[in-house]
Amino acid sequence: MYRVLVTDEIDPDGVAILASEPELSVDVVPTLPAKELLERIGEYDALVGRSATRITEELLQRATRLRVIGRAGVGVDNIALDTATALGVAVINAPAGNTIAVAELFFGTLISLFRNLPHATLSMREGRWDRSKLLGSELKERVLGIVGVGRIGSEIAMRARAFCMDVVGYDPYVSEDRFTSLRVRRTSSLDELLDAADVVTVHTPLNDETTGMIGRRELSRLRPGSYVANLARGGIVDDQALVAALESGHVRGAVLDVFVTEPLPADHPLRRAPNAILTPHIGASTAEAQRNVAVDACVAVRDALLRGDISRSINVAAVSGEWRELQPAMLVARRAAAVARAILADSGMRAVRRLALRCGSAVVGGSGALLSAAALGVLEGVVESDRLNLINARALAEARGLELSVAESLQIGPHAVEVSLAGGMQELAVAGEAPPGSAPRLSRIGSFHVDVTPRQTLIVLTNNDVPGVIGRVGTLLGDAAVNIAEYHQARLQQGGEALAAISVDDPVTEEVRRALLQLPDVLSATIVTFRNGRV
Ligand code: NAD
Repeated sequence: MYRVLVTDEIDPDGVAILASEPELSVDVVPTLPAKELLERIGEYDALVGRSATRITEELLQRATRLRVIGRAGVGVDNIALDTATALGVAVINAPAGNTIAVAELFFGTLISLFRNLPHATLSMREGRWDRSKLLGSELKERVLGIVGVGRIGSEIAMRARAFCMDVVGYDPYVSEDRFTSLRVRRTSSLDELLDAADVVTVHTPLNDETTGMIGRRELSRLRPGSYVANLARGGIVDDQALVAALESGHVRGAVLDVFVTEPLPADHPLRRAPNAILTPHIGASTAEAQRNVAVDACVAVRDALLRGDISRSINVAAVSGEWRELQPAMLVARRAAAVARAILADSGMRAVRRLALRCGSAVVGGSGALLSAAALGVLEGVVESDRLNLINARALAEARGLELSVAESLQIGPHAVEVSLAGGMQELAVAGEAPPGSAPRLSRIGSFHVDVTPRQTLIVLTNNDVPGVIGRVGTLLGDAAVNIAEYHQARLQQGGEALAAISVDDPVTEEVRRALLQLPDVLSATIVTFRNGRV
């Protein structure tokens, strides 16, 4: 039974998704004071909230059971993301559910600006009839310049056509084809867009590249009488430069829903800037958007808890394609890494320095997640962390000085992965594959071709290739009540060294390993006990 804390007034449709699962016990509470949340958080496996609940480092340290945080909305500024990642807590947001809400607000506010609606409403309330002062203009045939043609930018582009606007877009990360299908003219630079547009609207994330992207220089490049909108994140359009451009009249009007400091200080110059429509970050504030993001976040939290699907988590490597389809390859990567580490450790090389992962063409789309799985395989059984999982495995491995790399390989099967570990003078590669419809299998250990399914425990023996070894090993394991599921014997040449990969159903003790080593012609014996990690 998993316990889920739902707070910050998440839409009931989302809560119902969690509550309908018999394995989830859901507590719905209003936003809790920080102290009370600190006291209660240790009881929960998941938390679903919005921005009102701050997930601090201190809270996460207390949240010893916590596996997943669901954020019904986009921004995760309220979550100590680095700490969550280090502690292996999946953070899942819901970026898509409010796309339409923002796109519609854009047109609502733009038309308000073009038709002076705030002034019209106010003057009517004040008993005036300012008709002659309220000459507006039309969107038709204006050029709309969209910076950032992602989810919201695309929806705006589609709706702009209904208003007979010409649309140009600047987004170096979006393919030509996408622009073509949206019927948006692609500009190759921001300047080219600024030269063409009557209205510039930004829909990018806020990052180093986009902070202050529309500043003094860019605003002065616009045609006199242009319009600027920022419904994305505060700081993409430089506040001070915009105030100056509005005051000079070079920019005729602006729409802003987001600000560097929120709430916008009461005395902020933007509040007095002429012809600016300001809204208090209400882009996502529609009943439909709140429902959508609640449902998205709750579905993702349910899938993470009950199905181990953390593909929607923003602190795990992205997977192109289906997470579910990648699971067998992830298992192989994890098991192969665990086998390689254990064999190297038994040969005296404990400090692994490099992990190189090679992926077949069908699974390379999930290379980041596969690398996390391989890192997990190397660390489990070595680091003492009950919070070790796919989310923090890479960060923990790197913190221990392990160099990680991943590449596609055409020399292995499309569904195969190969994990190569190195340290000191030694290196060992273990490969396996997980073709659709068949069980994940290990296919190579070092130079030896094997074919076994990693179950609970794998015994890897090396021995002299002479008659009788298999029988003696079988008898010894039988006497120790260890049931053999598969026994795969491989050799490079007759009479040379042989390797046996023995998949067994039961745990194998150190005593049994020592007994195996005592058998004539057995050269080495490694026991790998596979762990079932958390999400
Ligand atoms: P998205 O990730 O789907 O799209 C962002 C686009 O920006 C991507 O296509 C990306 O390629 C592009 N981009 C990134 N860097 C760029 C650059 N330097 N130049 C040009 N393009 C660049 O995101 P989205 O869901 O469309 O959201 C867009 C923005 O809107 C985000 O900042 C988001 O936080 C914000 N947002 C605001 C509200 C609100 O309440 N006002 C609600 C939802 C989203």
